[in-house]
Amino acid sequence: MSTNPPATNDNAVIRIENLNKWYGEYHALKEISLTVSPGEKIVICGPSGSGKSTLIRCINQLEKHQQGTIEVLGETLDDNLKRLERTRRSVGMCFQHFNLFPHLTVLENCTLPQTANLRIPQKEAIAQSLELLDKVQMREHANKYPGQLSGGQQQRIAIARALCMRPKVMLFDEPTSALDPEMIAEVLEVMVQLAQEGMTMLCVTHEMGFAKKVADRVVFMDSGEIIEQAPPARFFQSPESPRTRRFLDQIIDHGVSA
Ligand code: ADP
Ligand code: MG
Repeated sequence: MSTNPPATNDNAVIRIENLNKWYGEYHALKEISLTVSPGEKIVICGPSGSGKSTLIRCINQLEKHQQGTIEVLGETLDDNLKRLERTRRSVGMCFQHFNLFPHLTVLENCTLPQTANLRIPQKEAIAQSLELLDKVQMREHANKYPGQLSGGQQQRIAIARALCMRPKVMLFDEPTSALDPEMIAEVLEVMVQLAQEGMTMLCVTHEMGFAKKVADRVVFMDSGEIIEQAPPARFFQSPESPRTRRFLDQIIDHGVSA
């Protein structure tokens, strides 16, 4: 038997090839190719309307694409619903708006998806929820309702809830952009911790401090295309494309933390 390591990227967590997506006539994603390896942290940035959310939403098929392939953990996403459901369970998602159930307590918000979707026994689901609430420092609020908590606290719960599903990869779509400035740090802190523990992460964010700290690669999108991607040091110090340079100048002008 051969002892050679497998060919590079054979074990990719996400492999996107020549992805094209239209909303009616509008070409929202153009020939996107992106591979994410196990443990890799990728930050996606770009101007509003450049297709960042669409890309994230295609990865768990909240949006359907028309051309190209998306493979998640070795499974190609197509019309097979059983396979899609299985794949979705491995993909945790955290949005700009937390989408917690307002009529459920923090603990119930974390426990329900486990019992309902994963058929995990109640007792085990509660134990897992408490452990993860502890990790995001929200355990003491387990019996409160989302409406009683700040935006930063709600977003940390949303992260814990996603982690309760034992995802293999986490997708973040501007998780701090709806938060008041004083709450951004507490959410980023949780994300940094997750990154340092080795989670595979794909994060749409303009928090460039976060990108510099944890990203293996920064991807810049504009008008539905990937314009360039590079490790943070190179991306920030010597971006190749004038479009990237313009974008970086703008966000620094607007005082986004760098
Ligand atoms: P970003 O997240 O980078 O701001 P989006 O992926 O949300 O960008 O949007 C990319 C483009 O696609 C925008 O021009 C937006 O108006 C358009 N778009 C997004 N969602 C829809 C939709 N459901 N129907 C039609 N157009 C959409
Ligand atoms: Mg968006």
